[in-house]
Amino acid sequence: MSQKINRRKFLQTSAALAAASVAAPGSHASEMDQAIKAPAIGSNLSSPASLPAKKGPRVVIVGAGWSGLTMAKYLKKFASDFDVVLLDKREQFVSCPISNAWIANQVNLEFLTHSYVDAAKNNGYIFISATAIDLDRAGKTLYTTEGAIAYDYLVMAPGIDYDYARIGVEDPEVEQQLRMHYPAGFNSASEVMAIKHKIENFNGGTLLMTVPTGNYRCMAAPYERACMAAAMMKQRGVKGKILLLDGNNDIRIKSEGFRRAFSEYYADIIEYESSAGITDILLEDHEIETEFDNYQFDDAVIYPPIRASRVLENFGLADPASPQKEAAIDPYKYHLLDDEHVYVTGDSRSQPFSKSGNTAHSEAKYVAEVIVAHARGEEIAWRSPQTMCFSGVKTDPLESMSIIAFYKFNEHEKSFAFDRVHLMEKWSERSGQAGLAWAEGMFRDMFYS
Ligand SMILES: Cc1cc2nc3c(=O)[nH]c(=O)nc-3n(C[C@H](O)[C@H](O)[C@H](O)COP(=O)(O)OP(=O)(O)OC[C@H]3O[C@@H](n4cnc5c(N)ncnc54)[C@H](O)[C@@H]3O)c2cc1C
Repeated sequence: MSQKINRRKFLQTSAALAAASVAAPGSHASEMDQAIKAPAIGSNLSSPASLPAKKGPRVVIVGAGWSGLTMAKYLKKFASDFDVVLLDKREQFVSCPISNAWIANQVNLEFLTHSYVDAAKNNGYIFISATAIDLDRAGKTLYTTEGAIAYDYLVMAPGIDYDYARIGVEDPEVEQQLRMHYPAGFNSASEVMAIKHKIENFNGGTLLMTVPTGNYRCMAAPYERACMAAAMMKQRGVKGKILLLDGNNDIRIKSEGFRRAFSEYYADIIEYESSAGITDILLEDHEIETEFDNYQFDDAVIYPPIRASRVLENFGLADPASPQKEAAIDPYKYHLLDDEHVYVTGDSRSQPFSKSGNTAHSEAKYVAEVIVAHARGEEIAWRSPQTMCFSGVKTDPLESMSIIAFYKFNEHEKSFAFDRVHLMEKWSERSGQAGLAWAEGMFRDMFYS
């Protein structure tokens, strides 16, 4: 009883705090450390990377995810004279979108996996498999594990990292244990594969799943994953439950649809708790502590809050005042406030857009145009990115809900907010098929000409 009263009070307070905490994009600019770093690496890595001589303005893109792949393709499309170099620390692309459907065997791994070599060959740019390790903005040089690359424009599209410190995990040993035993599955195919194995081998008891606070990657995906895992448990006749602990005071998106799916299909499997932000994790006891309760679990998928990829901070680009350690960029043109030759896009951007693949894809086409216009001394009008997200709730056949939305700057709130939202919370097989067709279209666009 007393717990319920506490929880309600907490919901009211946190809603008020959330409303008060909307900040203008780039509003921390004046506090930003604008110093330009000198490279601090060994001389062998300072020698030039093996690349053909550039024939036009060179754009180097760090990160061949949804943002970087789209950017590389459309830069070449809009300006064939540009010399575009895309690099990624990974050897091949495995999609995060649709990976929940893969977990539940609705698509195979081949559907998600694509070749960077094909993408570069088909679209006329250079791909190198390398890790960006340092940046000299004064000398316009990026240092990578394959050598130094001089640029005219640099696009940072490195995605996200997890921020375990925001759930009180400061000990690197504990963080490693969490990454290994209870991976979040929101940043690499390896993690998602570990989760797939976990769910396939789960034979009963409590499977804990968590939803972080903040602007985390893919708002709907943790709820979708709970549905997909529950569908698998149902199919295998596993006697157990999924405890879905949400740090937020309600389901963040498609809330009516997910609530209905939880009660219509998975009432005996999914137990959903809102306002259950993690305050401590007792690994040896298999226990998680939240502000109101402690919960025991047998296995877990723990999704901590996220931040912009660490490489932004390592390069001195992160705004120290930004809670998710994003860079201070022009909210309309995406370049650093103090450097019109360095851009930040995709999930590491600072605008509060949905961190989703479709957002990154539509935004990258626009930013490619911005960069080409800048090189030609022109300007183009701002275009909103488009968020489009399908969420599976039922399998065999896959049935999904969807949302499509744009953004508009709200002068009163001094931030961007959803605009022209088309929300379909009634799931269907047709929408399930549309989601797969959407992904196929995206892969075709990023990997073929
Ligand atoms: C389970 C799940 C479901 C999702 N469902 C959807 C959906 O239905 N619809 C949707 O639109 N979105 C969805 N998303 C979100 C989508 O995956 C991301 O928003 C999208 O990947 C962001 O693209 P990005 O290019 O910014 O980052 P990423 O795709 O993460 O790409 C960043 C790249 O940068 C590389 N990199 C990082 N640091 C370096 C470095 N130092 N040197 C070289 N390379 C580096 C990384 O290897 C990576 O390949 C989902 C995500 C998950 C996890």
